[in-house]
Amino acid sequence: MSTPEAGDLVQVVRALSALRLGDLRLAASVRLPSGHVLTTPRPGDARPVPGELTEADLLEIDPDGRVIGGRWPAPLTIAADLELYRRRPGIGAVVHAQPVTALAFAAAGRPMEPLTHTESTLLYPALPVHGRGEAIAGAAAARAFADALGDRPVALLPSQGSIAVGATIAEAGMLSHQVELLARVNEVAASQPLPADGHRRTVPETDSARISAQKAPAADFQDFFDAVADERTSRPGPDTGDTTEAGLRRRIVAACELLYHHGLIQSLEHVSVRLPDRSGFLMTPRRHLGRLRPEEIAVVGMDGTWRSGPLPPPPFLWLHRDMLAARPEVLAIVHTHQLLVRGLVMAGAVIRPLYRGGAQWAAARAVVHETPDLLFNPDQRAAALAILGDAVVMHEASHGSDFLSDTVEAATVGALQLERQARLWSLATRLAPEGREPLVLGADVLARLADEEPDDLAWWRYFRSELPARPGSG
Ligand SMILES: [Zn+2]
Repeated sequence: MSTPEAGDLVQVVRALSALRLGDLRLAASVRLPSGHVLTTPRPGDARPVPGELTEADLLEIDPDGRVIGGRWPAPLTIAADLELYRRRPGIGAVVHAQPVTALAFAAAGRPMEPLTHTESTLLYPALPVHGRGEAIAGAAAARAFADALGDRPVALLPSQGSIAVGATIAEAGMLSHQVELLARVNEVAASQPLPADGHRRTVPETDSARISAQKAPAADFQDFFDAVADERTSRPGPDTGDTTEAGLRRRIVAACELLYHHGLIQSLEHVSVRLPDRSGFLMTPRRHLGRLRPEEIAVVGMDGTWRSGPLPPPPFLWLHRDMLAARPEVLAIVHTHQLLVRGLVMAGAVIRPLYRGGAQWAAARAVVHETPDLLFNPDQRAAALAILGDAVVMHEASHGSDFLSDTVEAATVGALQLERQARLWSLATRLAPEGREPLVLGADVLARLADEEPDDLAWWRYFRSELPARPGSG
């Protein structure tokens, strides 16, 4: 289904992904002259991540919601798009984006102020905010959302992101961009005390309307999005189903590349993976973990002896050995020193899920080993093991965090997702009005996430797609 609309849709989705205005959950659709709708697929499994979308991945849907072309399932939220197209003849495109700072304002329950020239028009009247994190799936939810949006171009959905509508995909993409620009400037302004007269500068409504009438047409943004989309890079990882020792070594290297890229590890952190015959485990040595080579990974026996590898395993091997011995179902442990999680743990904060993507990692049982320590000595390790239980995250206060899972990819995604949730938590708690808690995902929403949201492996593919291509790989 190669049409001009399909080409523009793909370019805008790839660009919004490159601009980090959307993640794996980015979705968009356009209305064709025939009245049918082209949409991105539901994320997950083997489906392309947004940054690698092609026209061949799009689905064609008739106005009654029947899929009449395409090989993937439709997004959960397609009912909302169809309802908006039915109600508003002027709408030609819908974009579901995940602008992080705007998400923090939504979670904080703090309205943004009209602080930037062209974007201020989004706030006259106030930006609609809808829902408490539940998916807009099905006709009733779609109608309730369309009622909340009314005739406005953008709404914020706590724990989900933004939904923007436009005559063209370029316009809906531009609006998704604008809501985050507005939020970022609001965040900066909010960090400062109020001026002596009690008022920040804002863009009054009359100025906003004048500026809005003079601004560049939305169509101009298609060229920008096209240029950004063409900058996309990606670094495919090894086969995540390869459980041979050689395969596990390659998967550990891929995990380290990703964790290093995000600043969660540098050289003193560790990734351990149980050997296929369970006689011991593979463990990363102390070196530049962003440039680790498979053959540099040590083999450690379950008795803690260094069996092979050119570099000695770090003394942290004893804690990982103890964890693997205590938890037979755990096959991989990622130990990080990550900025936001470490800071929030030391602040005594409990990170709770504010965003649907990766929410299970913020909702999962986590324990805190309170004594500041390197966890080399048997008494500290015994104390840590005594509180571990069935937790999937252990924070070592002042030090770092361990993520326990059945694959190195899931444990890595856990570290990345908890840092993303921590960023939102940190922002939202700072922005929340005095005495107010951020809007945490409820137990009813959390209970449905496993069915509604992409799994850790899909997120792994998404995070890999964000990596810059290896130098020299073209
Ligand atoms: Zn450490």
